[in-house]
Amino acid sequence: MQTWSSIPVPRVPGEPRPLRLFDTATGEVRPTAPGDTARLYVCGITPYDATHLGHAATYLAFDLVHRVWLDNGHDVHYVQNVTDIDDPLLERAERDQDDWVVLAMRETALFREDMQALRVLPPRDYIGVVEAMPEVVEIVAKLLADGFAYRVDDPEYPDVYYAHNATGRFGYESNYDEQTMLRFFAERGGDPDRPGKRHPLDALLWRMKRPGEPAWPSELGEGRPGWHIECSAIAHNRLGMSFDVQGGGSDLIFPHHEYSAAHAEAQTGQHPFARHYVHAGMIGLDGEKMSKSRGNLVFVSKLRAQKVDPNAIRLALFAGHYRADRAWTSDLLSEAESRLDRWRQAADLQAGPSAVDTITRLRDHLGNDLDTPKALAAVDAWAAEALSTGGNDTHGPAQIRTAVDALLGIAL
Ligand code: ZN
Repeated sequence: MQTWSSIPVPRVPGEPRPLRLFDTATGEVRPTAPGDTARLYVCGITPYDATHLGHAATYLAFDLVHRVWLDNGHDVHYVQNVTDIDDPLLERAERDQDDWVVLAMRETALFREDMQALRVLPPRDYIGVVEAMPEVVEIVAKLLADGFAYRVDDPEYPDVYYAHNATGRFGYESNYDEQTMLRFFAERGGDPDRPGKRHPLDALLWRMKRPGEPAWPSELGEGRPGWHIECSAIAHNRLGMSFDVQGGGSDLIFPHHEYSAAHAEAQTGQHPFARHYVHAGMIGLDGEKMSKSRGNLVFVSKLRAQKVDPNAIRLALFAGHYRADRAWTSDLLSEAESRLDRWRQAADLQAGPSAVDTITRLRDHLGNDLDTPKALAAVDAWAAEALSTGGNDTHGPAQIRTAVDALLGIAL
């Protein structure tokens, strides 16, 4: 798929700091250790609705991962998928009497516009499931042939399921117990009660064609993929195994990331799928998680239409730590707008305090599991000094502008 346009990332003076990130699988903050090319996969949208601030918070968190690695001199191979065929998309198209292909194309185009407006660096590979269909079929066929998958006992619709514990490591990513797994599996697209399965936690790999549903011809029979297998195929075929970071919102910890990893590990016999599993917190509104089912969404495109500066949206979301569940409020946005004004006024000065220590602190905080609240506070302190007592370093303001652009993606 067509990705969105990139923007230049300036070089920042001084010494970069390596990136440490919290890994869900081990439960600790550990150093990332990429080679020359850092490999990042972030799960993309199901394009049946516009980008809301929960999505934005997730992609902005991983944009910082991208930027810190660039600062460290790595080339970054970033892959993102689009779930452009799945039940929620078909259900929304049916409800609105829309064509599912047109709906997916329209919402994917809007997502690209939102990401570009938010100055999110684009993935190198932006891959829709529909275009990756042969890759998905190949891996499902291999899982079947190797005995890691089976057809359900249903003569009418012999769908293919993954035997959840095929690798013997199931659960290592989420660390959830079976009761918790079963609850999230039922809540998040799984089908624990499907008759004919060998175990409630076995997950759909290939759904045989039902009347009125789109389907693709394949050696598995005409049908369409389950959800998790798409990311196994798209990630593994572009990044290999043991890539650096698998990312997404915390609602993907289970089942999605557990099964994506398990499918790929069963198919290749290699472990792990990713070296870090990194998850962003949920964004709430009025005390509730922002979600489609609750209808309490704030859309990036609506804020853009109200002429809200996308840099202020970035700053508002960076005011909290990426892993924390946090609330979106109008105060949060107005505080971010004031902060952006102060930073711009300070960066526009002819001279200011030296930027060297501030840039060091900015890098230290971002390198420490993307501690954006402290990173923002470091720039606040520089701007406050610049605007009150001034300073005589004629490079200071320009260096801050460069560092904030490269490391935080904020254009002053
Ligand atoms: Zn995914």
